[in-house]
Amino acid sequence: MPGIIDELVINVNNAGHTMSIIFVFLDGVGMAPITTGNPLATTPMGHMHALLGGPLSSEAAQARPGLLLRPIDAALGVDGLPQSGTGHVALLAGVNAPALHGRHQPNFPPVALRPLLAERSLFRLAGQSGHSVAFANAFSAGYWQAIAARRIRRSASVIAAEGAGLPLRDLDDLRAGRALSWDITRQAIHSRGEGEGLPLITPDLAGAHLADIARAHRLVFFECFLPDLAGHGRMGADGVHEALVRIDGLLGGLLAAKQPADTVLITSDHGNIEDSRTPSHTRSPVPLLVIGPDAERFAGVERIDQVAPAILANL
Ligand SMILES: [Zn+2]
Repeated sequence: MPGIIDELVINVNNAGHTMSIIFVFLDGVGMAPITTGNPLATTPMGHMHALLGGPLSSEAAQARPGLLLRPIDAALGVDGLPQSGTGHVALLAGVNAPALHGRHQPNFPPVALRPLLAERSLFRLAGQSGHSVAFANAFSAGYWQAIAARRIRRSASVIAAEGAGLPLRDLDDLRAGRALSWDITRQAIHSRGEGEGLPLITPDLAGAHLADIARAHRLVFFECFLPDLAGHGRMGADGVHEALVRIDGLLGGLLAAKQPADTVLITSDHGNIEDSRTPSHTRSPVPLLVIGPDAERFAGVERIDQVAPAILANL
């Protein structure tokens, strides 16, 4: 029989930490019409179809209580194909990074924009407003070795996390279910010869882990590069199918495990995987898919550099 203290605790839990925003960033997903050349339309994605009443395509755009899907602009008024380096800065810092840089830059953020990203990121501003923020991705020792050896540069997300003083999760966190691998199932870690003894997991379970992280944080960010790699043909013949199936599984697990008050926001930095006719990026708009009680609050977002300000306004 619950006593008065138990009831007070229950009430605090219900009224206190009532909601989280779970920001799932998918690199390289555009929003295009249903055609035979659009893998988002031709790949079985049961969770996505159940949610939207059809594929993640232009035709599925909708706004109703608890669900928003709209195309948002990723080109930001700059010629050429949108790219990751500037697109990530636009998403995480809420600025028109390609316009500031003068062009779309691939891969990593322009050097000149790194201080802005560190100082004005979504992570840092949310933290300064008193919100608990989690960057859910796990980083292996190999990642930091590659940074130190200058084989790769810091991603926009890592620059933003470091600028915000966020702890970066590692393989111990991953093993404990307190982090996710960027490729969802952890195969990428094993492919690099790391993660000995680390079990592969289903996308569904990865989604549940993401929902768990949100129980302790107001804002959770997870990024997945699978669709862009697959769209560029770097994941083999079945790469596109595999990427979309994993993402659909993650979505299913996340929606099943999240708290009812949590809102899931999914978006991208540029098109790629939605057009199988080209291995390049596209100038397609990207989907802004928001699921949960705050969905309608994002109905005014029209461009990728408006996502971070909209999240901050709704924390
Ligand atoms: Zn990208």
